[in-house]
Amino acid sequence: MARPEAQPIASHFIDGAYVDDTAGTPIPVIYPATGKTIATVHAATPEIVDRALASAARAQIEWATTDPATRGRILRRAADLIRDRNRELSELETLDTGKPLQETLVADAASGAEALEYFGGLAVDHTGTQMSFGTDWAYTIRRPLGVCVGIGAWNYPTQIACWKGAPALATGNAMVFKPSEATPLCALKIAEILCEAGLPNGLFNVIQGLGAVGAALTTDPRVAKVSLTGSVPTGRKVAATAAGELKQVTLELGGKSPLILFDDADLDDAVSGAINANFYSSGQVCSNGTRVFVQAGLRDAFLERLTARLDGVITGDPLDENTNFGPMTTEAQTRIVLRYLEMAKNEGARVVTGGHRIDREGWWIAPTVLTDLTDDMQVVREEVFGPVMSVLTFEDEDEVVARANATPFGLSAGLFTRDLARAHRIVRQLQAGTCWINQYNLTPAGLPFGGSKASGIGRENARAAMDHFTEIQSVYVGMGPVEAAY
Ligand code: NDP
Repeated sequence: MARPEAQPIASHFIDGAYVDDTAGTPIPVIYPATGKTIATVHAATPEIVDRALASAARAQIEWATTDPATRGRILRRAADLIRDRNRELSELETLDTGKPLQETLVADAASGAEALEYFGGLAVDHTGTQMSFGTDWAYTIRRPLGVCVGIGAWNYPTQIACWKGAPALATGNAMVFKPSEATPLCALKIAEILCEAGLPNGLFNVIQGLGAVGAALTTDPRVAKVSLTGSVPTGRKVAATAAGELKQVTLELGGKSPLILFDDADLDDAVSGAINANFYSSGQVCSNGTRVFVQAGLRDAFLERLTARLDGVITGDPLDENTNFGPMTTEAQTRIVLRYLEMAKNEGARVVTGGHRIDREGWWIAPTVLTDLTDDMQVVREEVFGPVMSVLTFEDEDEVVARANATPFGLSAGLFTRDLARAHRIVRQLQAGTCWINQYNLTPAGLPFGGSKASGIGRENARAAMDHFTEIQSVYVGMGPVEAAY
């Protein structure tokens, strides 16, 4: 199969044009399926960071007063362009991340387009409130924050750029976006498409770099808000830096989410849910349900059906649409996952299937199911961020709720049962930002998404995201004479 062109025109996209500065540290872009370099970009130098922020600050002033209907129309046009170019963008996402084209064709650009369409539609309808105080009255205005910074993780580069960019732009902000250094390609295309859709220059700039560039963006006084998708340690750093400057933050961080399967669940649905919650994108999904609590009566049937279904895994060139399981996105993450597998085995875990590297070029780990675990093992407690499912057994509701909540994380949770009264009763007790009942990992643009506890602050998607990209201005209107003491 012919490979699409991976090398971008230049490393950065600023003020409506591709820009390079080869003085910046070279960043190789590696195709995870082969481990081979397919492109090179350069980290932003301080001059590039400055240009990106200056152009965003300039452009935002006029954008803030642009009719929201116009803003929305541009975003919806960008959504259409993304859909028209779905295949090209999906192939790029596959090259950037290694995720199989079978997935990226339906998940990534599609989700980005959905966000742009959704927030484009809502742009005209993000209103304040009005209230009376006797004959006096007051109203509130939702004002944009100014220049916002988006910093992305490497698992969903197109989606993260759109999930952050769309609500920021719809509400009148400018955004400077820094993709993960591991996946620098996709956000550039989103910037290009936004421009083609009519977005004025400077409103969505993309600059490359490692953590240092992210840190430079979060400390700059021109920046009003930082929206990060990343790990908990990076989240803590960004929050601490932003606190020093009193900037607003949204943090979408890691998780170790529980997926609870009751005896009365539909077995095939429960197995499908567990597969999607652990092996989609080779397990590199923040909201994955990696602690699979199976009620004792279902355990054997679940493991039998699960292992049979995993025979359907097809590894191969991710650009081949028959491939349904891809490599890890980075070599570093591959090493991390293999280390967790070694630790688990040393601690006495039983490997039902997988548990090893797949013997082919690139960074592949077999889909792995572990049993004979205890809740205190490291592989059960910590985010592995790879294709590793921990199967745990439970007896009753109270026990599983207590164990599900016994984690510092709180991103997501799922449960499968035919007893819907029980489902809703349990959901109210789970400490998780998003819960799925008889489903897993679906994140429509109209549903708020974000973490509880250490999994984050704030929400993406839905009207909640627009609230996080705006602040309220209160306006009191006096209608009568003004009294004064003297
Ligand atoms: P990291 O936390 O390593 O990096 C996230 C981003 O932050 C990268 O662009 C990184 O740059 C940048 N960065 C690193 N240090 C700093 C700093 N001091 N200041 C500002 N920016 C910085 O996460 P990963 O990329 O490894 O992504 C995996 C993590 O992301 C997992 O924990 C996962 O759970 C989480 N995640 C959360 C999601 C959610 O919505 N809750 C969704 C997807 C992933 P660089 O990498 O280039 O150095």
